[in-house]
Amino acid sequence: MKRIAVYCGSNKGTRPEYTVAAEQLGELLAREKIELVYGGGMVGLMGVVADAVLKHGGHVIGVIPEKLVIKEVVHEKLPDLRVVKTMHERKATMAELADGFIALPGGYGTFEEFFEVLTWSQLGWHQKSFGLLDIAGFYHALQGFLDHAQSEGFLKPQHRALVLVENDAEKMLARMKAFRPPEAPKWIR
Ligand code: AMP
Repeated sequence: MKRIAVYCGSNKGTRPEYTVAAEQLGELLAREKIELVYGGGMVGLMGVVADAVLKHGGHVIGVIPEKLVIKEVVHEKLPDLRVVKTMHERKATMAELADGFIALPGGYGTFEEFFEVLTWSQLGWHQKSFGLLDIAGFYHALQGFLDHAQSEGFLKPQHRALVLVENDAEKMLARMKAFRPPEAPKWIR
């Protein structure tokens, strides 16, 4: 695994655990020589994870739409910053660059970006791994909802299983490295 995209809040959230987890994830990526791909901003947990990778000698690629350069306050110390035209271009670039995807706690933007690439995996368009870092139980309710979607017949068990959940970045990375994707749907072949 060469690069991981991290989706996370443009806010830091109310609990210090969220910031600590973003720092630990950044440090781990740097130590493992896995490059960080992220939204390119300085704000919220996005800035925390990028700073942690850089502080520990890792590499960071930021991808930001030009409209957000001011709002999300572009990180000025990124070795590789890509300013793209649109949000769609950002998401496609991040998805293309990354070998796996991790969501830390966040809001609508985080959910949207994570679920979009997850749906591409469900369609068999790529075979990359997904991790939800469930810090302080932040994603507990979402897991319950995904289980509900499965038991109501809207998510196949093999697609529900695409989302790995851990509360610790090291355990998550080990599971992502070991991840083997389910077979692509027959109609794709
Ligand atoms: P949030 O989780 O809402 O704090 O946002 C985290 C990141 O998601 C930020 O970099 C936002 O620019 C991005 N984002 C916000 N809205 C969207 C959207 N509709 N589509 C894709 N990304 C978004």
